[in-house]
Amino acid sequence: MTRNKLRLAIVGAGPAGIYAADILLKSERNFDVSIDLFDQLPAPYGLVRYGVAPDHPRIKGIITALREVLDRGDIRIFGNVRFGEDITLDDLKHHYNAVIFATGAVRDASLNLPGIELEGSYGAAEFVSWFDGHPDVPRTWPLEAKSVAVIGNGNVALDVSRILAKHVEDLMVTEIPANVAAGLAESPVTDVHVFGRRGPTSVKFTPLELRELGELRDVDMIVSDEDFDYDDAARAAVAGNKQVFVIDKVLQQWRAREVGQASRRLHLHFFAKPLEIVDDGTGRVGAIRYERTAPDGEGGVVGTGEIREIEVQAVYRAVGYFGSPLPGIPFDKRFGVIPNHEGQVLTRDKATGEARQMYGVYATGWIKRGPVGLIGHTKSDAMETIKHVINDLGNWWTPESPSEESVVEMLESRGIAYTDLDGWHRLDQHELALGEAEGRVRVKVVPRDDMVQISRGEV
Ligand SMILES: Cc1cc2nc3c(=O)[nH]c(=O)nc-3n(C[C@H](O)[C@H](O)[C@H](O)COP(=O)(O)OP(=O)(O)OC[C@H]3O[C@@H](n4cnc5c(N)ncnc54)[C@H](O)[C@@H]3O)c2cc1C
Repeated sequence: MTRNKLRLAIVGAGPAGIYAADILLKSERNFDVSIDLFDQLPAPYGLVRYGVAPDHPRIKGIITALREVLDRGDIRIFGNVRFGEDITLDDLKHHYNAVIFATGAVRDASLNLPGIELEGSYGAAEFVSWFDGHPDVPRTWPLEAKSVAVIGNGNVALDVSRILAKHVEDLMVTEIPANVAAGLAESPVTDVHVFGRRGPTSVKFTPLELRELGELRDVDMIVSDEDFDYDDAARAAVAGNKQVFVIDKVLQQWRAREVGQASRRLHLHFFAKPLEIVDDGTGRVGAIRYERTAPDGEGGVVGTGEIREIEVQAVYRAVGYFGSPLPGIPFDKRFGVIPNHEGQVLTRDKATGEARQMYGVYATGWIKRGPVGLIGHTKSDAMETIKHVINDLGNWWTPESPSEESVVEMLESRGIAYTDLDGWHRLDQHELALGEAEGRVRVKVVPRDDMVQISRGEV
């Protein structure tokens, strides 16, 4: 008797997509599996390559584990193929039994703040994409501000602040692209101000990332004594939560430090709720106006009515990422995710208005549960989704052209310059060689055309 075979498409070759493929291949099942992984980018690894900061080589090293999964050779990759443009849901139904969307979240969440549209006001995601060499953002970044505001109290706010405040010489060992190094070298920045509405015991920073700021060469960490007048709730948080305890300890050490010698300063403003980005009179950012808040006794904060202003020439909002809708796939506009039950995509029945499963369609990673959590979390996510893919065997699609060759024929007939695993190896070797020539780990190739040509062996 011939066994059933699952031809599975996964859209998105970030950690969520790669873990999903790996988990399915390793799980107990009574059918064979053949997986094709599609990504709009010519190189895999999603935000591990294009989000994690270049001066975090340990986290970037997760790429090695993801690469081992791909190098086993039982998953095909088709890079430079965009779902919604190069391939559609109908195409997938024609060639596969099911699809998992693992398309992540790449845009900045919006922030409703007067002045947010001024010139010099940026989203953190755009800046991160620039300094991580994403092919689809401009090559230059306007680093003209001496004084900069960063809104947010999570790790992305710290990444942005650190890259802005760090001296470029200290980034040269990393994989930052040449255009990024050149841009940062010209930056006149002296002061980076980070704003959080709540107190030091309510931040979302992780201790390791926070501590790292205090180790930056020639950068003073500035914290204000007024922010450490803890109430009972804050004291209880320090006593009862190890992470908060360590964060408090790091901040207390900075309070005690002598400052004033460094050429750059990184200021942490707690209990500071941004109210407005102030126009300098020419349509550009001139200052940030904020209200001092105070603990409300229940773990939250209330405004005090005391308004302050700091002169800045640029503002970065690091208030979260947001998913993007995919053609033909349900989308929850409020949370920026694909509506789902444990990874089974849900659609609304037009007649009854009730949510029901959209057979053959699954989601995993940030597009499934929103842009929070670390790379490791996408693994448990994938397990949950894969469990349903396996159990839903009776409800998969029945494709007309399930052969592996038919997909290649489709892409080629459309003239799509896709990249594959061998292509990624070529690009990887090329980048490592560029790095070696300069005594660095790697130098990333940025322009998409160059990435594709190197991958396809056309140069
Ligand atoms: C700035 C930043 C720093 C971070 N630093 C850390 C850290 O230090 N440590 C840590 O553990 N976590 C970190 N994270 C979190 C980590 O990056 C995420 O948990 C993880 O990448 C989410 O995985 P994902 O696969 O769901 O999404 P992604 O990594 O975003 O992958 C999604 C993939 O889908 C592709 N895609 C999207 N749309 C389409 C389409 N239409 N067609 C084809 N392909 C498509 C994208 O190109 C991408 O490759 C950081 C995140 C950010 C934003």
